[in-house]
Amino acid sequence: MTLSHGRDLFMTPGPSVIPDRVLNAMHRAAPNIYEGDLVDITSSIFGDLKTIVGTKGEAVLYICNGHGAWEAALNNVLQPGDKTLNLATGSFAHGWADLAGKMGVIPEILEFGKSSAIDPARIETRLRADKSHEIKAVMATHTDTSSGLRNDIAALRAAMDAAGHPALLMVDCVASIGCERFEMDNWGVDIMVTACQKGLMTPPGLGYVFFNDKAAKVADATPKTSPYWDWAPRVKAEYFYHQFSGTAPTHHLFGQRAALDMIMAEGIENVWNRHRVFAHAITATVEKWSLAGPLFLNIENPDQRSNAVTTILTDGFDCTPLRQWCEQQAGLTLGLLIGLDTYTDGFRIGHMGHLNPPMVLGALATIDAGLKALSIPHGDGALAAASQIIANG
Ligand SMILES: *Cc1c(COP(=O)(O)O)cnc(C)c1O
Repeated sequence: MTLSHGRDLFMTPGPSVIPDRVLNAMHRAAPNIYEGDLVDITSSIFGDLKTIVGTKGEAVLYICNGHGAWEAALNNVLQPGDKTLNLATGSFAHGWADLAGKMGVIPEILEFGKSSAIDPARIETRLRADKSHEIKAVMATHTDTSSGLRNDIAALRAAMDAAGHPALLMVDCVASIGCERFEMDNWGVDIMVTACQKGLMTPPGLGYVFFNDKAAKVADATPKTSPYWDWAPRVKAEYFYHQFSGTAPTHHLFGQRAALDMIMAEGIENVWNRHRVFAHAITATVEKWSLAGPLFLNIENPDQRSNAVTTILTDGFDCTPLRQWCEQQAGLTLGLLIGLDTYTDGFRIGHMGHLNPPMVLGALATIDAGLKALSIPHGDGALAAASQIIANG
């Protein structure tokens, strides 16, 4: 018997839950792609996104996922033979570095493991040693979606400044925009990449790159091999379709507009705060479970835990039956582990975007029921802890 006959809930770290309002905005006839609504909507999307990410710089949009945005950013400011310093705190940093390597860039990995944040002191030391400024860019991940870790980007910039190094700071915010506080200009980020399918609550398909004047100058001096990724013609677009190097992603733009309407109405500070409360409820629950039995949090330091995704591990205990119970008996889909030593000995809870207390508490209570149904040992008081955190707000 399965009890799963309501609306299924996806708590995977992307794509996130798509609001009905976003789906409904996309359910319409094809629009004029030369003038009218779509043109106005697109410019308002850029305006609101710049507010959300805290920049007065430029923004471009590509029809692609996060990997495309990764490649777009690299293509504009680096060329084969250039060196980068890649700060690794989980598999997404490695993924971006690998992609750079395939483009002929020479990435140097500074490894910080899979459960602790970047150490600014090590970065400062490495950059001071680069006396001839061979390193063209420092590449980091804000929230790493595999480890559930959040890096302190302002501290990273401070380390680069302390070393007096001119490298560009490039940050992957695919998991964090719309979930975590991010202040591009205040934190001194030169290039930031994100995508629409996580905190921005829209089906996968829009990749964004934001950049400042410093990055634009580097791009102007960088020979381009790909006209599609080149951001210059998009920024300087004479005709609307130049912004997309062709047909606009029509329905995605309507969907993204609806999602941004929701974010702007709530207020970005409130959006960040809501994610902070939900993340806290989830980590407090896991801490209680971990008092007895196999489950524990990957990130020990509470200041380094992401507000967008939580990675739960075990020492060699297979969580596949628990995930299957949640999905088949209750309609709750949890995330697999990725980029760790194991795919089965734990799971991830995505908590990005369109979520409220019934969804978060419902997911936690469902996992709690799964632990009981499968006789997996766990500490008491987990749900009471979550409920208290939601009550405190
Ligand atoms: C999801 C994600 C990506 C990759 O995005 P895709 O759309 O799957 O290509 C990159 N970086 C981070 C931090 C992510 O969470």
